[in-house]
Amino acid sequence: MTIYNLNAGPAILPREVIAEAAQGVLELNGTGLSILEVSHRGAEYEPLHLQAQADILELMELSADEYGVLFLGGGASTQFAMVPMNFLKQDGHADYVNTGEWATRAIQEARRYGTVHVVGSSEDASFNCIPRDVRFHSDASYVHLTSNNTIYGTAWNTFPETGPAPAVCDMSSDFLSRTVDHRRFDLIYAGAQKNAGPAGVTIVVVRKSLIARANADLPTMFSYQTHLKANSLYNTPPVFGVYVVGLVAKWLKRQGGLAGIEAVNRKKAATLYGALDALSDVFRPIVPRAEDRSWMNITFRLRDEKLEARFLKESDAAGFKGLKGHRSAGGCRASLYNAFSQEGVDALVGFMEDYARRNG
Ligand code: PMP
Repeated sequence: MTIYNLNAGPAILPREVIAEAAQGVLELNGTGLSILEVSHRGAEYEPLHLQAQADILELMELSADEYGVLFLGGGASTQFAMVPMNFLKQDGHADYVNTGEWATRAIQEARRYGTVHVVGSSEDASFNCIPRDVRFHSDASYVHLTSNNTIYGTAWNTFPETGPAPAVCDMSSDFLSRTVDHRRFDLIYAGAQKNAGPAGVTIVVVRKSLIARANADLPTMFSYQTHLKANSLYNTPPVFGVYVVGLVAKWLKRQGGLAGIEAVNRKKAATLYGALDALSDVFRPIVPRAEDRSWMNITFRLRDEKLEARFLKESDAAGFKGLKGHRSAGGCRASLYNAFSQEGVDALVGFMEDYARRNG
């Protein structure tokens, strides 16, 4: 039976990347050593580190003169604290848009360090939309967005004008999935474990000039400056994770970069949302407005919610793994990250059509 991996994260990676990574665990590029047993300052690892940084910047169309790429530990959740530690000014404030549970956590962490203005929120709508007409303060220490809301299945398909304040974006669940004018952001962070690699490495892409504005006297490991100065080799980076992120970046370049993967992702999402419309007697998308819908995490319910447990059991038995919605949102969620194929979406739609025929 074919297994289709719809997990929200850690999530599907390209099969060829997994095969290459398995080979690197056995022996890295003819060195006689495993990636798991080489020095992070040695000739085996360092070129991989530098190449991964260069490939990420190339994919994002950013210049190495302007931006640095960091590979940090602690997950995206550590960035929720590191961003305000570094950039929230004592006498200032930061603007946050609350579009879901992860944004809420980012806000909670920032409040430990100073004043937060929540300038837009979809909390009253159970986070099933993206707030409209958000106005940002030009004097904010920074503004913070979450590009894709993994749990609720919403996304900023068009980013708002954030004004002159530095702009920070949590891109954990749609990093490198579509063309974005990345230059509109001064700091982007993403846990790798959805679109970019295994759990254990968090990618931070930061505008170098922003660092000059950072707060002083931070613990060494929580200062972006420490990592930027050392090109993310201040201490031992998550070596294996960086290696796999590098393999994913090369794979993405073979797919035609972000424009190439965007075309694939757009079609996959259109196929599944189209099926939800066509099968509207049985299913309904959770996010009502098409322009607010995520291409990465497609959330839906059965019209008769009592039937969801059975639908999920049947879909799991048919090979569709990880389709259950997040515990705080309920329902179903199909995560169609970069490595998930159109063929997999077609198979899922086939299963849903068959289910609808049997239960409609
Ligand atoms: N932000 C978003 C948008 C996420 O989806 C997640 C994880 N699902 C996080 C942050 C937290 O990431 P981590 O588990 O790497 O701390």
